[in-house]
Order: sequence, then structure tokens, then C-alpha cells
Amino acid sequence: MTRRLNIRKLRIKCGCGYWNSVPVNKIFVELDSPEPKVKVLIAMYEPLGVFKCKQCVKVIAEPKEPKGLESNIDLLKNSF
Ligand SMILES: [Zn+2]
Repeated sequence: MTRRLNIRKLRIKCGCGYWNSVPVNKIFVELDSPEPKVKVLIAMYEPLGVFKCKQCVKVIAEPKEPKGLESNIDLLKNSF
């Protein structure tokens, strides 16, 4: 899997109603597909750090652990 930085600004609405602009890295994760000619790609947004709402200081985005992502993909593979 190749990882390239593809920085976007993603608007995330906090529970308090305030819209925050959060820099994220858009990544595509390739999954194994039951059809050899078909690529299964899912788009994910990976926050570049921990971001808190500017109004109520609640954490609205934090980087996901790559470990958790891989174990999710393993689960998907096993279900095919
Ligand atoms: Zn808030």
C-alpha cells in the first residue's frame, strides 16, 4: 500500500453546533476483492493531529491508530 499526502480541509460539525475546519489527509485503502480484476478502494480521512472544537474545546478529530485499521481489514478478508 502506497501512502501519499493529500491534504484537505474537512469541515466537521461539533456536537455544540460549531463548524470547525480540520486539515486531514485523504487516503485510499485498497481491500482484497473476491474478483481478481476488481479493485476495492475505500476513501478515508485521517486527521493530522488531535483537534478540538474552537468553541467548546471538545475533541472532534484525532488520528486513528493504523493498527485498528489493519485489524478491520483482516476482519473483512476473513469474511470473504
Ligand atoms: Zn463544540
